[in-house]
Amino acid sequence: MRYCEESKQNRRGSVRVAVIALMAVLAIVALAFAFWPRDEEQSSENSGAGEKSTDDAGEKSGADTSMSSLPYFEPENQSRYDAYLAQNATLAPDDAVWMVNANLDKVRYVDYVVIPDPSDLNVLVNKYNQLPADYVPDDLVEIDQTKMKAVAAEALRKMQADAKTAGLTFIAQSGYRSYSYQNGLYEGYKKTDPEGADTYSARPGFSEHQTGLAVDINKTVSDLSDFVGTPEADWVYGNAYRYGFIVRYTEANTDITGYMSEPWHIRYIGVAHATKMHDEGIDSYEEYAAKHMSQ
Ligand SMILES: [Zn+2]
Repeated sequence: MRYCEESKQNRRGSVRVAVIALMAVLAIVALAFAFWPRDEEQSSENSGAGEKSTDDAGEKSGADTSMSSLPYFEPENQSRYDAYLAQNATLAPDDAVWMVNANLDKVRYVDYVVIPDPSDLNVLVNKYNQLPADYVPDDLVEIDQTKMKAVAAEALRKMQADAKTAGLTFIAQSGYRSYSYQNGLYEGYKKTDPEGADTYSARPGFSEHQTGLAVDINKTVSDLSDFVGTPEADWVYGNAYRYGFIVRYTEANTDITGYMSEPWHIRYIGVAHATKMHDEGIDSYEEYAAKHMSQ
């Protein structure tokens, strides 16, 4: 009986253990079901967020990478690129890079440098780069009514000769100008037109004419605006690069140069550079210099 009782008790104990074990298994399964789907959601959310942040990082680093992979990218200008892009939301990052390199984010005639090597044939003279007041080219030669550096005068004569073959004639009306002469010109314009003078007349030291590499051409000596729209102007616009000249101020680059269109003002930079600028369809010497010449 005791045995039986004992045996009964043992049996009860076994049943209890089995029930507890079953409950434990059920609890584990329930826990597994409770947590499994949530884990999946969480992990898919995580991976979604992970992908998203990876995408964002990809896009951002993509822009940075495309900027920093540009051959004219300057790491020390990074904060200026960012600021310029923030100010000009529609600007492409690669344009912002050359524009900042050309100092277009600076204030004209305020933030400028004095050009260290003014006799360089590829010198960039503009509202951010000033020639020393006492700079005079050492090899000026006479051409038509004016003077130019020898290499530029020779190129212009060749261009004039070829144009003549095509039945077109133009002369060099105004080439080299000294600092003091430019000062008188600018001050004269400023008196009569204080608001507009800077759009067509350079301040002293900021004129390409002082390099002896720039020249205003015209059919005859007269108002330069007479040259606008002539067959000669068209021919020069299409062919100047073959002789190493560029039409320096055009409708396309007004915002960059700060000057109105001047189809009569051409600048010698050499055949190789002028041809490259033409072939690449680059609108301004500022852009060309920023992309292809270290400043
Ligand atoms: Zn000019």
